[in-house]
Amino acid sequence: MPDQHTTRRASYDLHLHTCWSYDAMATVDEHFAAALAHDVRRIAITDHHIVDGLDEAIATAERYPQITLVPGAELTVTASTGSIDVVCLGFTAAAIEALTPVWDAYHEWQREYAAATTAGMRAIGFDYTDEHRRELLESYRPARALEVQGMTHVANKMQRAWFVERGFIANEAEYGTVLAAAAEKVARPPYPAADFVLPAVKQQGMLLIIAHPTGYFQRDNLDRMNLLREELLLDGAECAHRLVPPELRPFYRSWCEEHGLLSSGGSDLHWSEDVSERIGAHGGPDEWWPEIQARLPAGALVNP
Ligand SMILES: [Zn+2]
Repeated sequence: MPDQHTTRRASYDLHLHTCWSYDAMATVDEHFAAALAHDVRRIAITDHHIVDGLDEAIATAERYPQITLVPGAELTVTASTGSIDVVCLGFTAAAIEALTPVWDAYHEWQREYAAATTAGMRAIGFDYTDEHRRELLESYRPARALEVQGMTHVANKMQRAWFVERGFIANEAEYGTVLAAAAEKVARPPYPAADFVLPAVKQQGMLLIIAHPTGYFQRDNLDRMNLLREELLLDGAECAHRLVPPELRPFYRSWCEEHGLLSSGGSDLHWSEDVSERIGAHGGPDEWWPEIQARLPAGALVNP
């Protein structure tokens, strides 16, 4: 029976994770197959913090010539207001090469953050070793991703369940509290700085789209919105996402228009079981795509 997710799909979905993200298991093939089945004709692969999976995405695109691929990444940066997710769209091979220091910084951040989490848990008395973390990662992450990225952090979904199973916490609701206590003992490194990451990415011509902005924008705080627009060098905002209440979408859209920004839409899928039901079902109108397409760097699209 159709629910609100399946009532209407856009012709594009510009925020999708694959198993190259530390917290996702969907495959790129699942995204393409679902896109084809549901006539979502343009998709962006936007893995967390990395572009390690884009070769695989580009190779898969060859088998789906009807679907346009936008090579992307979702980079979380430390800004003046806290950590913020930025969807970056339009990576070319040359840009990826030029941004090597950025990828190195994120790979290192993932490993250091993960190691600080396990060390913090041990510091408050729990038996959570790096070997346990390896076993957890190997239980759901592909070997090819671990080979490139090393021992990353563990998806909350898996780590939370394991904490319960091991008796570290009585129930899943205690997860945040115990992680905060661990961080008191062993500080986790902040995400790479916005002013290190974003100017470099923008210089390569990629579009910078603030992801699911409602929290970052304090819903509709224009001062905050304009501060972040300037600080993050934004090209657009993800006005259509399940974390954006539909009643805010027109407000964000007119703010985008006022400032010459693009509006994007993405379903932010991570898990195989959600892909077919939700791809393209972010609520954004089809008219946003040609505006985005016109500003993507030349040569960025696969199967244009
Ligand atoms: Zn995401």
